[in-house]
Amino acid sequence: MARRRQLYEGKAKTLYEGPEQGTLVAYFKDDATAFNAEKHDVLDGKGVLNNRISEHIMLSLTKIGIPNHFIRRLNMREQLIREVEIIPVEVVVRNIAAGSLCKRLGLEEGLQLQRSIVEFYYKSDELGDPMISEEHITAFGWANPAEIDEIMSMALRVNDFLMGLFAGIGIRLVDFKIEFGRVLEDDVMRIILADEISPDSCRFWDISSNEKLDKDRFRKDMGGVVEAYQEVAKRLGIMPEATQQKRTGPVLVSDQS
Ligand code: C5P
Repeated sequence: MARRRQLYEGKAKTLYEGPEQGTLVAYFKDDATAFNAEKHDVLDGKGVLNNRISEHIMLSLTKIGIPNHFIRRLNMREQLIREVEIIPVEVVVRNIAAGSLCKRLGLEEGLQLQRSIVEFYYKSDELGDPMISEEHITAFGWANPAEIDEIMSMALRVNDFLMGLFAGIGIRLVDFKIEFGRVLEDDVMRIILADEISPDSCRFWDISSNEKLDKDRFRKDMGGVVEAYQEVAKRLGIMPEATQQKRTGPVLVSDQS
């Protein structure tokens, strides 16, 4: 079979040309990176888990009317997505203080925020994704004011929905990062949610123990990264087949004689 044309290789995903015009195939890799790729490792099975978790969340968001790029999952590691013109802004929503917010403002991790905070970062590996304001976004033409309003309102709706979804399975949604893109529909440019939503892009804490169930385990060398992602998938009711097989498959008993 002819190999699909690779269009882009990111840190955790590779994008290929899709089978139809306006579609792409996203391949979820096992690579994990942090601190702008200074730290790198390969975590067996991470891509499979993120493909499934992101599929589940995007389909749930579609059901509540939040348009997104997900079309369908193709296999364990690939999903078919809509091609978008990506807006070069990372949108972070925070409910509890953690990560760079604590560092920037000297806050203690775990502080409950009085209201959810939406932040913007310019998507640039070379610059280390610097924080920006709405003024930068409009001044540099990355999005117009109406688009920013749409992005803010969608980001907060995603937050409300995800907080409820995860609270229902005993997980606190601390913060997350999402991205948006433009698509042309009936001659009208629309903004839709793009990229992935997974333990790579969210902070998840167990409600009772505060145990981290996300990429912070990798960033902080805590170990048990894939096991934590598996726990999230299990609670969402979507353990991937391969992982289940590993657990329930035949066990080779060594010959003691
Ligand atoms: O590092 P920081 O505290 O700003 O991250 C906020 C949230 O955004 C975290 O859930 C983190 O995983 C996510 N994030 C991301 N990709 C980035 C930066 C942050 O997924 N490039």
